[in-house]
Amino acid sequence: MKTATGVTLIENGQLVDGTGAPPVPEAGVVVRDGRIEYAGPALRAPAVPPEAARIDARGGTIMPGLVEAHFHPTYFNVATLEDLDIKYPVEYVTLLAAANAKLALECGYTAARSGGCLFNVDVWLKKAIEEDLVPGPRLAASGREICGVGGLMDWNPDFRKIGMEGLVLLVNGADEARAAVRKLVKDGVEWVKTYPTGDAAAPDTNDHHTLCMTFEEMHAVVATAHNHRMKVTGHCRATEGIKNALRAGYDTLEHGTFMDDEALDMLLARGTPVIPALQFELASIEHGPEYGMPQAVIDGHQETLEGGAASALRILKAGGRIGMGGDYGFAWNPHGTYARELTFFVRYVGFSPLETITCATKTGAEIMGRGDEFGTVTPGKLADLLVVDGDVLADISLLEDRANLIAVMQGGGVKAGRAIAR
Ligand SMILES: [Zn+2]
Repeated sequence: MKTATGVTLIENGQLVDGTGAPPVPEAGVVVRDGRIEYAGPALRAPAVPPEAARIDARGGTIMPGLVEAHFHPTYFNVATLEDLDIKYPVEYVTLLAAANAKLALECGYTAARSGGCLFNVDVWLKKAIEEDLVPGPRLAASGREICGVGGLMDWNPDFRKIGMEGLVLLVNGADEARAAVRKLVKDGVEWVKTYPTGDAAAPDTNDHHTLCMTFEEMHAVVATAHNHRMKVTGHCRATEGIKNALRAGYDTLEHGTFMDDEALDMLLARGTPVIPALQFELASIEHGPEYGMPQAVIDGHQETLEGGAASALRILKAGGRIGMGGDYGFAWNPHGTYARELTFFVRYVGFSPLETITCATKTGAEIMGRGDEFGTVTPGKLADLLVVDGDVLADISLLEDRANLIAVMQGGGVKAGRAIAR
């Protein structure tokens, strides 16, 4: 992705720098050749040349670009899980993924870590974004997801004879787990997404307290992936699945729903980030009936919501790391509404707006392994920034409405927001 040239001064707003530091009122940010040169009180900002571009924050907020830490660009707002793998061919899924990437950027998400994709679309989507062919967040690519045979993601009955080819690699035992990772090595993915546990969505045989992979399979995945410098994450709801993932050496946990004291201690000792992805649960409870969700599924989502919110709060208060993102791409939780996750954590879980923004920026960049490059408004880092019309610390839900974004910048270039419409 090209970085901009020249100098830009952003002024007339408070600075929320993403580190968790208190906001700096009357701030100025100077961007030079795509990187942050200065961020702090406007009065102390270095002089800029007369030809410098200027962005007026209108008394609002200057902050880092948001990071979607569990992004599914290929999930096309499906109304049923079955649609994911059989509704469209890879050609159309690819176009939909490109449209979703553009939308995410327009929503202020300047980077994203994929949480699994159809076919091998995300690797190529990332390349198209990096080469400025399509706009989108800086992407960390996952590929097809790994799940045990008969587990959560193995929903097509054998009599249909269609397998799960575009969505998951199904494994029986450590050897097949290794073979699946080796396929992903060849595909070029950075993150291996696995399914250690079930979910409320499958209340009969793979609910949120069941396991969908053995420890041996998970350990084989991690050993093979780490050997090839790939990272591993997993859908972890059940307590024992969380512990298996931590013991196996997972790099992050998705959801981390039902944590007992031992699981929390293990998590904190390892410093493993968790991406709870909880707005999905609330949306499922609120809108599930419209989509024919059985009551047993909705009850399971309620239990997941409560368990997940309690775990997330305990993790944050104990000094653990939480990433923001999650499972946008279902009909009741569609693309373009990503920032509802942030509002949810403030209103429902009890995070402060400042804590939530740190999770959604600094921690997100750390999860991607790129915390040195972006995620905070710090001199030397890439100028991946948002200029928001309004005080996001007073009302974090301002971030839900794209109309409030004055500028969305990547590498110092204005990619979206009102400033580009002029
Ligand atoms: Zn997901």
